[in-house]
Parts: sequence; C-alpha cells; structure tokens
Amino acid sequence: MRTVIGLEIHAQLLTDTKLFCDCSADYFGKEPNTNTCPVCLGMPGTLPVLNERAVEYGVRAALALNCEIPERSKFDRKNYFYPDLPKGYQISQFDEPLAVHGHLEVNGNVIRIRRVHLEEDAGKLIHQAGNYSSVDLNRVGVPLIEIVTEPDIQTPEEARAFMEKLRQALRYIEVCSGDMEKGSLRCDANISLSEDDELGTKTEVKNMNSFRAVEKALQFEQKRQKRALNEGEKVEQVTLGWNADKEEAKLMRSKEEAHDYRYFPEPDLVPLKIDEAWKEEIREGLPELPDEKRERWADEYGLPEYDIDVLTEDKKTATYFEETVAEYSSPKTVSNWMMSEVFRVMKLPEAELENVTPTEFAYLVKLADDGEINNNTAKEVLEEAFTSEDSPKDIVEERGLKRISDEGLIEEKIEEVITENEDAVEDYRNGNEKVLGFLIGQLMSKTKGKADPNKAREILQEKL
Ligand code: ADP
Ligand code: ZN
Ligand code: MG
Repeated sequence: MRTVIGLEIHAQLLTDTKLFCDCSADYFGKEPNTNTCPVCLGMPGTLPVLNERAVEYGVRAALALNCEIPERSKFDRKNYFYPDLPKGYQISQFDEPLAVHGHLEVNGNVIRIRRVHLEEDAGKLIHQAGNYSSVDLNRVGVPLIEIVTEPDIQTPEEARAFMEKLRQALRYIEVCSGDMEKGSLRCDANISLSEDDELGTKTEVKNMNSFRAVEKALQFEQKRQKRALNEGEKVEQVTLGWNADKEEAKLMRSKEEAHDYRYFPEPDLVPLKIDEAWKEEIREGLPELPDEKRERWADEYGLPEYDIDVLTEDKKTATYFEETVAEYSSPKTVSNWMMSEVFRVMKLPEAELENVTPTEFAYLVKLADDGEINNNTAKEVLEEAFTSEDSPKDIVEERGLKRISDEGLIEEKIEEVITENEDAVEDYRNGNEKVLGFLIGQLMSKTKGKADPNKAREILQEKL
C-alpha cells in the first residue's frame, strides 16, 4: 500500500509589529489581552495597513523555497466564527497567493511546494478546568506565512525530515524562530493510503508541537488507515487532533470545504504588487542556504559529510567555523575541536560563543596543533575562555602555558636533573634504559609539564 503525505505549515514571521497594525508581534508570555489595539480587535471603523517587512520576509521565504513570485497577489477574507477571531474573518490569501511552484529537496527527493501565502494569526483559547475557556487575543494579527506542499511526501519519517529541513532554511534566512513548542512553527499533516496510482481519501492531523510528534502522529494515522482499508472499511475525510501524551489522534471535526469559508476579496486592502527590482534585491540579500553551503564545504574543505551536517545545522555555528578556517586553514582540525570541545563547553551555563572570536579560537587550535601547548591544556584554556571574558591568548600567556621548546632552556633544566639524580644516571649508564622515563618525569615536574617531550628525550639521551 502506498502512503501519500502533504503538509500545510504555518510559520510566524519575525517582524517587530503585527501584519496590519502597530502592536508588537512578540506576544509570547505577555499578560493576556494586553497586546492588542482597535485594529487587531476588529473594532468597527478601523482599517488594516499592510506591514511591508512581513511582505519582504514572505518573499524571502518563498525565494529560499525556490518559488515563483507573481507580480500580483491579493488578500481575501476567510470567514469563520470562533471566539479566537474577533473580526469574524481572517485576512488571508486565497486564489492569488504570494508565491507558487517551489520545491525543497529532502534526502534526494524533491518535494514540490504548491504555494506560500501571507495571513494573520488568530488568538488563543485556553481551556480551563471546569466547563469554560478563556480567550487571549495577544496573538491576533501576528504575521504568518502558510506553506503548502504537494502530496509528494512518502513516509512519516520523510515528513519529519522535511519539517527539519524547512525549519533550518527559515532560520538561516532569519524570518522565523522555528520554535515548534512555542507554536512559532506549526504543521497540519494530510495523509492517505491507496493500492494504486489514484490518491486515496485523506485525513488531516493537527496539534503536533514537535518534530517527533509530526512523525508519531503520521505513523499512528498510517497504521489506522491501513487497518481500516485492509478490513474493507472506508476512510472518512476528517480532521484529527494529536494527543502527544496518549500518542493517539482523535476526531476533531468532519472536513470543512473551501466554500464553507465564503472567501471573498478583502475590500480594505489593494492588491499586492511585488515589482521585479524589489524581488531581485531581496534575492541578492539572501544568505548562502544550507544545501549550497554543504556542497561548497565538501568541495572547499573536503570535510566528511557527518562533520558538514553537524556544523551547518545552524548558521551561527557554520559562520563561526568558516571564520575560524579563514584564520587557520586546517578544516578537519578545526572541525574536530568544534564538534568535541566547543560543543561540550557550550552546554555549560556561563558559556557563550561570543566570548571567543574566531581569530582567538584559531590561535588556540593552531597552538595545540603545533604542539606548543598540550591537548589537555588547550582543552582547559578553551573551557575557561568560552566561559569568561579572558581570551585564550591572555590565559596562555598569563599562566605561561606554552610548551618549552627552547633547547637552551631544556638543556639547563636537564643539567639540574642529572646532578640531582646521580644514582639514576649511574643506573642508566649501566644499561638500565627504563630509568630514562623517570628522568624525563623529573624534568617535566621541574617545567610543570611544559617541556617538549620529544626534544627533552633527545637532549637527555645525548647528555647521558
Ligand atoms: P483541501 O482542499 O482538502 O484543503 P488541498 O488540495 O488544498 O486539500 O490540499 C491540502 C494539503 O493536503 C496539501 O498539502 C496537499 O498536498 C495535501 N493533500 C491533498 N490531497 C491529498 C491526499 N489524497 N493525500 C494526502 N495528502 C493530500
Ligand atoms: Zn493591534
Ligand atoms: Mg486546503
């Protein structure tokens, strides 16, 4: 049996203000119903004014998803009655969306994107213990893009991978925080099964607030539909809600149709025109996207795929790596230090990547790589540098941590060791080679472990 999945994703845009008024778009955690104004509350006589930045972010996302952007799109009213929507309609885009015909590649499979459109968010209902709900309208009017895929996804695991990849792209271009737990990125998943090339009847699952939940909910629904079809039952076209605690999807409502929403053009907003020059300006401003970066890193740095995946996961880490390698062009060494030590230290509460510049980090990696300080010392310096204001160079110099490779200095210390350990020297000269290790140990304790061990061995053997 063939599984087909299509996703409808809502991503909150990181604008300062809401889509059609001056209220802050940063509603999270605020006192309920304090982040509103007459416009987003839908008071009679108010008019929406479109937020240009939201359009720019929408275009940016659409371009990153390889979409075409028609010169003209328009806003429509989607009518429905629910207490989280004070106007009684949501301003959205229906038949002329901001962007169409995109795609995103996931593990070699091309997932087509049908459309990307702009719309405003609704408020939140908080279902209280007892038989009532509270309404919080702080989120009403926050700008969203809705991204709709074609039914090109073939497994629940691929749906999850798509969401992860999408989130990564949206974060790289800095239009969405991608936080599924806070609802900044939400996903409704449509799924159907069929025995042939025809699409089967789909169901829609909502309320997944993690990547894991997307995968789990679709696995659940895939199993349920398979069982039903195997038993000769019909799958009803319904909307289900995912319960992450019980790991089950429950019926929310029977499917609504577009005509139920009585869509019509928003009379208070003129059609939206995106001129070619602005579109190109936005395109030019896009950063290198994760796929391009991965490819370039493989060519330029010759890193293993695993390293590339880990280090390009977010843009900040990737940029840090690139800037470090620009200072010390030993990509695999830098990668090893970042993936093991920097990532370990970053988990400490006081650690900040900003505490050590890429130049300073490159200095430390090179020092260790050249054997000027030993690896354990370098790890300690690294931890201290990332968790304090001090730079690696300051720490190394203040504490005199650099390895002594000055032969004159080592020789001087070796002379001391020889005069202080006459018995051992005698033993060695009588053929007990093991004593050499002891003498080197003495030298190390005199130099606090900083003498270059290879040089020390060489000089010591010569003297004896
Ligand atoms: P509706 O009109 O029911 O909203 P759409 O055609 O608008 O359906 O598609 C909504 C989402 O559902 C899209 O992501 C689409 O890819 C997906 N989809 C459509 N038909 C199916 C199907 N038979 N099985 C799985 N997903 C589907
Ligand atoms: Zn407002
Ligand atoms: Mg639809």
